[in-house]
Amino acid sequence: MKLFGGIEAGGTKFVCAVGTGPGDVRAEIRFPTTNPDETIGKAIEFFTRQADAEPLTALGIASFGPVDPDPASPTFGYITSTPKPGWAHTEFAGAVARALGIPVGFDTDVNGAALAEYRWGAARDLHTFLYLTIGTGLGGGGMARGALLHGLIHPEVGHMRVPRHPDDEFPGMCPFHGDCLEGMANGPAIEKRWGIKGQDLPDDHPAWTIEAHYLAMGVVNLICALSPQRVVMGGGVMDKKHLFPMIRGNVLDLLAGYVQAPAILRDIDRYIVAPGLGNQAGVLGAIALAERAATDV
Ligand code: ZN
Repeated sequence: MKLFGGIEAGGTKFVCAVGTGPGDVRAEIRFPTTNPDETIGKAIEFFTRQADAEPLTALGIASFGPVDPDPASPTFGYITSTPKPGWAHTEFAGAVARALGIPVGFDTDVNGAALAEYRWGAARDLHTFLYLTIGTGLGGGGMARGALLHGLIHPEVGHMRVPRHPDDEFPGMCPFHGDCLEGMANGPAIEKRWGIKGQDLPDDHPAWTIEAHYLAMGVVNLICALSPQRVVMGGGVMDKKHLFPMIRGNVLDLLAGYVQAPAILRDIDRYIVAPGLGNQAGVLGAIALAERAATDV
């Protein structure tokens, strides 16, 4: 029986787990993301203890980024140019693999979550789809013909440019671009624009009209560029479930009937959906990356 470890490495917290999939997460630990030595050290300590009880076959890391996911690159498994203090150019996957002596799969947090949705969740029956997360950050991953989306590096869908909502004068808060999609529509942008956290804004607040505008613009651009068979949308902001019908309506309006797919025109409720794994997609993504690393060996 194979047993996997997974690290959901977020910018604010790490979740480390041991298991084989949904319904079989046997041990889990969470701790804040401090400096790399301490944080990665804590993760290694946890898995070393777990492996003493029952050996792990492989481990997966689904990490905040940007990261280097190219196995042929000398900096494979590194967190690269992140603005997060202390974390730029940090070797991650290699350090964990050396400490534990097992294969380590490594990808972005969003590609990990996409893989988990493909393996067990809302994208099980598909080969080309996108997974977007809208929370503290705004990012996206996914698959094309069953392969996780990589290329030059990996997609950075949060930083695409989108037209402003006509009633919105918020300057945006991306440290690199100001008013890119992430800068206008992540959780902190909602809070800064309105002076109230998104979770505390009522469903009929104008904030949601503006939020749905930006998210729908992003989704439409992605539909036009990548032709996904489904778009899965998770993250803390999407816990506001009333956003889904607003986004779907805007997407239909913006596409204006041009993309002639019944999945969109007749069945959009099943086209733009919440994650099948809920907020477990992240850590299960890390376990799915481990499963894949074990088969790749
Ligand atoms: Zn940006």
